[in-house]
This record gives sequence, structure tokens and C-alpha cells, in this order.
Amino acid sequence: MIRQLSNQLINQIAAGEVIERPASVVKELVENSLDAGADEITIDLGRGGVGQIKVRDNGCGITRADLPLALARHATSKIANLDDLESVVSMGFRGEAMSSITSVSHLTLTSCAQGESEGWMISGDAGEWREQPSPHPEGTTVEMRDLFFNVPARRKFLRTEKTEFKQIETLLKRIALSLFGTEFRLTHNGKQVFHWRSAKNNSQQNTRLREVCGQAFVDNAFAIEHEAVGLHLSGWVAQPTFSRSQADMQYFYVNNRPVRDKVIAHAVRQAFGDVLYHGRHPAFVLFLKLDPKLVDVNVHPAKAEVRFRDSRLVHDFIYRTLHKALAELRPGDGSTEASSGFVDMLPGRVQESPSNNQVPPAGTFQYQASQQRSIPLNVRENQSLYQKLYSVGSYSPSVSDRGELSASRLNTEMVSEHDDIPPLGYALAQLHGLFVLAQNKEGLIIVDMHAAHERITYERLKTMYDKEGKLRCQPLLIPMSLSVSPREIELAEQHSDFFLKLGFEVALGGPESLIVRQIPVILHGADVETLVRDVLSDITSDGFSNRIETAINEVLSSMACHGSVRANRKLTVPEMDMLLRQMEVTENSGQCNHGRPTWVQLSVDRLDKLFQRGQ
Ligand code: ADP
Ligand code: MG
Repeated sequence: MIRQLSNQLINQIAAGEVIERPASVVKELVENSLDAGADEITIDLGRGGVGQIKVRDNGCGITRADLPLALARHATSKIANLDDLESVVSMGFRGEAMSSITSVSHLTLTSCAQGESEGWMISGDAGEWREQPSPHPEGTTVEMRDLFFNVPARRKFLRTEKTEFKQIETLLKRIALSLFGTEFRLTHNGKQVFHWRSAKNNSQQNTRLREVCGQAFVDNAFAIEHEAVGLHLSGWVAQPTFSRSQADMQYFYVNNRPVRDKVIAHAVRQAFGDVLYHGRHPAFVLFLKLDPKLVDVNVHPAKAEVRFRDSRLVHDFIYRTLHKALAELRPGDGSTEASSGFVDMLPGRVQESPSNNQVPPAGTFQYQASQQRSIPLNVRENQSLYQKLYSVGSYSPSVSDRGELSASRLNTEMVSEHDDIPPLGYALAQLHGLFVLAQNKEGLIIVDMHAAHERITYERLKTMYDKEGKLRCQPLLIPMSLSVSPREIELAEQHSDFFLKLGFEVALGGPESLIVRQIPVILHGADVETLVRDVLSDITSDGFSNRIETAINEVLSSMACHGSVRANRKLTVPEMDMLLRQMEVTENSGQCNHGRPTWVQLSVDRLDKLFQRGQ
């Protein structure tokens, strides 16, 4: 028997797509407030949002006549025809959210539209609305109660109050970092959780960044901005030594919309690949801007995913920009203390609120990021010594009146006469055959000799390889035959240029086999068969692969490790000075190839404190 489904049931089915948990309700309601032009949004939650979600805004409001329409399915003020679909820039336009929420909870909508004299409230359950006047300042309040009260099957899938609350908090953090100009307030069970004021200038913007990401992130982050091939990337990236055990501090926005995307994630991971300890995750807040026509944001009902027209281009742009920014970090960048996230080595001292997020990768001694350093991210008055010496400009983001990020280039000051001590100073002595001690303007520098040398050698090998090594390929004595699928053969043929550029000659062997005739000299002895297979499978799933470069870098990295000064090698003072000078000009020299710091700074200030001088 065929039945016509009731409206209520149709809405509940639709709700299944958009409304999964309390955080999805908050997302839809806050997005509606933003679409209404609000710049003040207050969110009140009860019982992790399951009991109550109230979102109040100062947006344009809804007229009395439109109130019932706002709750109807397929009712939207945001598009009228298919052409609009192409150019839509609002957060939502399916006209489904409000009707979906209404079908799975008790909802009250109160609003006062611009120019109307009084507010009106609409409540009740689907189809049987009651309307009544209700005082309300210009703007809208939506109050939802008892999520899934009528859908026990879905209620069962809700997690604990605390988990649901955390999800909402995370969501709001994501939104708040893209809208610096909007004020957000959150309460839970009657208690204020945060109040992020609108950030219009640089210092307010820094405050927002600190409120959302924490002081340690602000202390360890550097600002980046780069534009090329029609793409624009800006934001903040934490030094590789400030890595995290989880991928929980990664904010990425495409045209100001928070997104999770495989291509982007891959590019970022690749950029950090060389400088991050295995299994650690980088921390960043990044904004990609591009022509909206080059990206489809509507592939996902909750709009969390995007599809780029040219994903390879986007991937390479992000990868190159970040890779270059990381490579250009130099001793002294960003702060007067070590960029390596210094460090209080003496046991028994009370740490100033150490953050357990900063547990370092296995190293030779205990690190603790110093909370003392607070670098003004916006205006770097204490422009690094390195920058002064090498006249490298630095970018600093600023916020426009509308709360949008932009960056301006700071002029590099001239070198003053006191600055002729190099950033890492001059060597004093060697300690236990492991560390070089040096004195610079700020105080004492301690260098992990092996780690530093390893990084220098590695970077040098990479440069040499890029210049000459690439051309050095060697035919295999016995060509290697791989049995593969017809699809993989097709891919290998399509990408034969890609293979050739990296020194691989891959040819057709038969209807189901490939023949590898030639590989780069450096990969002799590597597992070529697995490598080629993995590359093909990357291309199948992601459209591209960086595996060959990674494999080459791994070989170079291990060559660097074996060729570097071992512990207990006595170095003369001139040799140590040479090491310091090389570090200053080497890319990535703040970390060894495994992401551990290569040097730390103990400032005189710090030393004074250790000895409690002047207290
Ligand atoms: P969509 O956002 O996709 O249009 P919704 O179901 O979320 O669909 O909302 C339906 C309509 O209700 C919106 O198009 C808008 O006109 C109106 N609306 C919802 N929330 C608000 C709000 N906070 N302020 C002003 N108008 C709102
Ligand atoms: Mg909406």
C-alpha cells in the first residue's frame, strides 16, 4: 500500500540530514543570525543543549507576516530561483533548518523586524501556531526545548551533557575565529562560559585569538600572508615545536567559511612533514580566499565540506606557502626568547601555569613553554634581530572595521649599531660533548650540537638534490614488472610526465602490467614496487601524490643523520661559531629533522629570576 507521508514525518526525515545533535541546532540558528546581519549573538544552553538552546541576535528581524513562513519547509528569504543558487553567499538557503528543528523539538520564535513597532512571538507545534505580541528589541530570539523529545531513536544517540556541550563550544570557537567583528556570549546552565567582544583593532583581535586558542598559541604563532595564482592565504601558524598530540587546534576557512577538507589537510600535513615529529599535529588558524566560482560549498548538507574546481592548484599553493613560511623561520623570529618554546630546565621550580598541551616529543630534557613571553602578534615592536640583520619584512594581520582580516607589511627598521652581535651570538664552550654554549645580546644560548648539525646537513643535501640530484637517474639492471589493474595502467599513462619529472620511467608492460625501467639514483635500495603502488593509489583517491618526494627526503634525512657530528666530538671555538653562523642562515634551523628544538635561549632576565635576584 502506498501512503502519502504526513508533513510532520517529511520534516522529521529532513531533520535527520541537518539536525544530528544539539551542536547542529546551534550551528543553524547562529548561521541564520549571521545571515540576518547580526553582530551580537547570545547563546544560552541548558543540559548540553539537549534541554534548551536559546539564540538571541540583533539582526534584521522577521516581520509578523513572515513568522509562520520562517518555520515552514522550503521557505527561505535567501533565494528565489535557480540562478540565485550560483551566486549565493549566505550561510544557508535550503529553507530546511527551522522546519526541521520544529519537527523534533518545542520551538518558540520571537522577533521584531527593522522598523516595526512591536515584537511578535510564534509558538506551538507544527501546523498549530499561536501568535502573540511579545516585547523584543530589533532582532530575533529562537528558543528550542527538549531536542528529539518525539524521536526516541535519535535521542538514544546523544552523548553525555558534557560531550554535547563541548561540541557546541568547539563549533562556536570555529565560527568566532572567522568573524572577529561579531560579539559572542555563551552561557550553560545559567553560568557564563565566555563573552568574546567584537574585535575591531589589532589588539582586540589578539585578545579574541587568545580567548579562543589560548595564550600559548599566541606566544608561539607567527602571522603569514601570501597571494598568488588568484589564491590568498593568511592567518597564524604555530611554530613546529608547539605541536599538539591531537589535531584539535586546526582552524581552516575557505572564503570565511569553516571547512574540513581532505585536500587542505593533506597540503598542511605535507608542509609540516619535514619539521614535525611523527604523530604530532600542527596548530593553525588559516584563511583561504578565492573566487567563489572556483569552489563548490554546497556538496554537503551541513556545508562543512567543499569541492575545489582545481584541487591540485589549491593543494600546491597551500603547501608551498606554508612550507616556505616554515622554512624561513630563523633564530630569533617572533620573540626575544627562543623560538623553540623555551624552557625552564631546572627541576623543582613552579611553572607558571604550564599547559599540558605542550608535552614535547621525546627529547633529551624537559621542555616547558615559557608563559613569560608574550609577543604582540600584531605589532612586532620587538622585531627580531634576524629580521633587522637580514632586512626581512614581516607580515602582520590587522582587522578592518567589518572585522575582516587583512595584512599589512611592516617596514623593517634599520640596523642599529648595537645589533652587530649575531642572533645566536658567539660560542663560549662545549658542554659534555653534547651542547654548545654561546652568548648573545639577550643572554645564554644552548645548542644541541648533533640536532643542529643534522638539520644543516639535511637542508644542504636537499638543496643539492634539487639542483643536481634530480637529473641523476639510473636504469634498473633488471626492469621491474608490476601487475596492476587496467585503471592503474590508465593512471600511470596519464601521469607519465609526473613520474618522469621525478626520475621514474614507468611504461606499459601488457594489459595488466607496468614496467619500471628507471628510478632516481638516490632511491636505489628502496622498495620501489610499494612506492609506485602507493603513488597510484594516492592519485586514485586524492588526485595527486607527494610520496616520491617524501621518500627522497627520508633518504636525505637519514644520510644527514649519519653524516652529522656525533656526540663527544670536541669542537674548537671557531668550529662552534661556524655552526652558529650556519644555523642562522639555514631553513628550518629551529628544529632538528624530527621536530625537536635545536637550540634554546636563557635570557639574562630569566637567569636573574632563577637566582631570584632583585626580589
Ligand atoms: P534558510 O536559512 O536556509 O533560508 P531556515 O529554515 O534556516 O532556512 O530559515 C528560514 C527563513 O527564516 C530564513 O530564510 C530567514 O528569512 C528567516 N530567519 C530565520 N532565522 C532568522 C533570524 N535569526 N533573523 C532573521 N530572519 C531569520
Ligand atoms: Mg538557515
